[in-house]
Amino acid sequence: MKLCMVGTGYVGLVSGACFAETGQSVVCADIDPKKIQVLNEGGIPIFEPGLDAIVARNVEQGRLSFTSDVPAAIREATAVFCAVGTPPRADGGADLSAVDAVAKTVAENCQREMVLVLKSTVPVGTNARVRRIVKDAPFPIHVVSNPEFLKEGDAVGDFLRPDRIVVGCDADDAFAKQIMSRLYHPVSLDKDRIVWMDPASAELTKYVSNTMLAMRISFMNEIALLCERVGADIHAVRFGVGSDDRIGPKFLYAGPGYGGSCFPKDVKALVHTGRDHGLELELAATTDRVNDRQKGVLFRKLKSHFTDLRGKRIAVWGVSFKPKTDDIREAPALTLIDALLADGAEVVAHDPEAEENAKKLYGDRIRFVEKAYEAAEGADALCLLTEWRQYQNPDFERLKSIMRQPVLLDGRNIWSSYGLRAQGFTYDGIGVQST
Ligand code: NAD
Repeated sequence: MKLCMVGTGYVGLVSGACFAETGQSVVCADIDPKKIQVLNEGGIPIFEPGLDAIVARNVEQGRLSFTSDVPAAIREATAVFCAVGTPPRADGGADLSAVDAVAKTVAENCQREMVLVLKSTVPVGTNARVRRIVKDAPFPIHVVSNPEFLKEGDAVGDFLRPDRIVVGCDADDAFAKQIMSRLYHPVSLDKDRIVWMDPASAELTKYVSNTMLAMRISFMNEIALLCERVGADIHAVRFGVGSDDRIGPKFLYAGPGYGGSCFPKDVKALVHTGRDHGLELELAATTDRVNDRQKGVLFRKLKSHFTDLRGKRIAVWGVSFKPKTDDIREAPALTLIDALLADGAEVVAHDPEAEENAKKLYGDRIRFVEKAYEAAEGADALCLLTEWRQYQNPDFERLKSIMRQPVLLDGRNIWSSYGLRAQGFTYDGIGVQST
């Protein structure tokens, strides 16, 4: 059986390479010829730890290839995965034009009975919509919903050792069930990880998972603001709350707001789905609003410290939305940088992996430097946005000696226990009481 992965981005490339790693024959197809060229020349267009070795091994062993001829790749396949982008529209709903285009191409090119697996995050009802698009194809196309839960930065491990695999297909669809079981068997050897359900529930599960996680973050971010007002410490609160087994310790970290290509758009899309059906999803809508407010937190702190930011040089450490990825989509750093530029400040930024993406966005409106300390030279303040490991334990004496003013704003609270105020810094974190 041949597998075709349509869309070779963060999800498609990882999924395609990992399926190949389990012995499957996979063609990754994408309409972006530059991306395919990079891959065919042995490069990897994104930064994702561990991916390069898996891609290289599977290409070398003949199980993985790349093409920009999407129809040709579909013609060979019995399983086509759709992993194209579903970005937000202006009204918050998901833009399904790429999914529709893939469905149409599949219908026009399928050469045998096959499954079309929707791996992209798509609103409830999309499976039914895609079925309508492919219904007149010359061979039966079984449309399956299989949302992806991998995390950028840990994507390979998440794909090969998933918590669960959600598969939505008709209860009596033996053809689809057999193919999906077989494809995921290698990552379910220790226990059956497939959670079978109807397509609508599978589609909704993805949005509910992401919104639940986003909600925890927004709630803790609100509580962090309250901590600052009442003299409490968000770390202590987090430990106290997270030690309750019913709550657990994960996704309770206060910070500069969540970013990335998933949480912001998926929360908005869920709210939009609710409205489409005459239901205001209050918690989800508020989660989104709280996050928008939180993304301004470091800028507000800078404003209250300096009042006038014109001509101030602000160093930014970390532009990606989280460590171990070069992805800057919806990153809180962008909100800060945009506000600083609008206020007339000068921005000097450093990020171990996201420089290229940030340069595409900002050109020469901000200065990017190779070494983290260079960003701090002559800076009036240093803002930590992404908790890359290399920023965890910097030489603070050196920082103090090269900065124009020793002002540290720690958006991830990674320096809050270092006694930086006692060392002569103006230090502030998110909801922390530090010394
Ligand atoms: P991405 O932007 O990195 O990749 C999408 C790819 O699809 C691009 O390379 C684009 O050129 C290609 N494409 C667009 N239209 C196409 C078409 N008609 N035919 C072939 N290729 C086409 O996006 P991503 O981050 O991989 O996300 C893909 C989907 O997976 C989205 O729905 C997203 O919400 C979901 N998802 C993403 C993550 C994540 O961490 N990035 C995690 C889980 C789910």
